[in-house]
Amino acid sequence: MLAINLVVTALMSVSKGESDLNKLASTYQNIEQWQKRVETVRHGILQSAQLWPMPEKTPLRSRIHSRRTHNGYIVENIAFESLPGFFVTGNLYRPLEVINRSPIILCPHGHFEGGRFREDMQQRCATFARMGAVAFSYDMVGWEESNQLNHGDEPVLTLQLWNSIRAIDFLVSLQDTDSKHIAVTGASGGGTQAFLLAAVDDRITLSIPVVMVSSDFYGGCNCESGLPIHRSDGHTTNNADIAAMVAPNPQLLISCGDDWTKNTPTHEYPYIRNVYQLFDAEDKVENLHLSEEGHSYGYQKRLGAYRFLNKYFDLSLESVSNPDGSVNETPNIIESREAMAAFNQENQQPENTPQGKADIIDILRRAQKL
Ligand SMILES: [Zn+2]
Repeated sequence: MLAINLVVTALMSVSKGESDLNKLASTYQNIEQWQKRVETVRHGILQSAQLWPMPEKTPLRSRIHSRRTHNGYIVENIAFESLPGFFVTGNLYRPLEVINRSPIILCPHGHFEGGRFREDMQQRCATFARMGAVAFSYDMVGWEESNQLNHGDEPVLTLQLWNSIRAIDFLVSLQDTDSKHIAVTGASGGGTQAFLLAAVDDRITLSIPVVMVSSDFYGGCNCESGLPIHRSDGHTTNNADIAAMVAPNPQLLISCGDDWTKNTPTHEYPYIRNVYQLFDAEDKVENLHLSEEGHSYGYQKRLGAYRFLNKYFDLSLESVSNPDGSVNETPNIIESREAMAAFNQENQQPENTPQGKADIIDILRRAQKL
């Protein structure tokens, strides 16, 4: 019911989103004005997200264990500390054979039940690895094994964005990863994580936000709009504008007919393409609109992502393709939560791990020297 209400609310305010985009578009006419604006908005987002000053990047102290070898790929279970004592938990999917360094793909999961353990998450990460990439799926703050804060706590946006920034640090620190080719893709709340990360961290060179880039609706969760990242005294933006900030890096917007991205082909995509046009790079941004589909990261959307990533990164789409051009996901092994756990009997979370909003904010502020 909540999802239906959100869709209705979003559709009723279509004209407002459109007029917001028109207003934003009138604030820049050339590449210099746009780039100046990007700096202002980036700073505004980081400040509003309470990530300014940026926290110190403390040692990750990563734990990697339980390596499994499947059909053409490897899965491992991961925990690292994005702040001293604050854990990011997830799974690393690697190709079985690495010829050169592997491109990196960050995969946040969004507000779908089951989080990183869901079948569709495992399908996309396993397929990315079979194509030759290193994919990382990681819990949202307060979901599944991330148990030190509640997802509804106010600092969730801050910590979730910081965890993504530190996930890049973790991934580029690995042997055999290619720090020049780093993508992020997620659906719904994972789409928000994708375009926010890409906007504030220029190590991301390709982004695929799925069913979330809307000028009308920012997501109803504290992790998406619980802090005033869209407006402060110094900046005004919206999610389509934030997605445009990565121009001219390759970007694929995946939208559908049954949620707040139903107008992407006529509203958000043209706005973003106009920004790419300033760079003479309108061919680098694409919109895959699936009018018959709903709010998910289902097979057709994954297929779009596989093809787009293959186009720009040195991957092997043919090695996972059927003769008719579809992608064969049947070699992927869908694992249990137990098999994928970052913390288990042999690899336990330390007993003195800080818990709760007050303790975690204290750790963050100390890392910010505040
Ligand atoms: Zn959330």
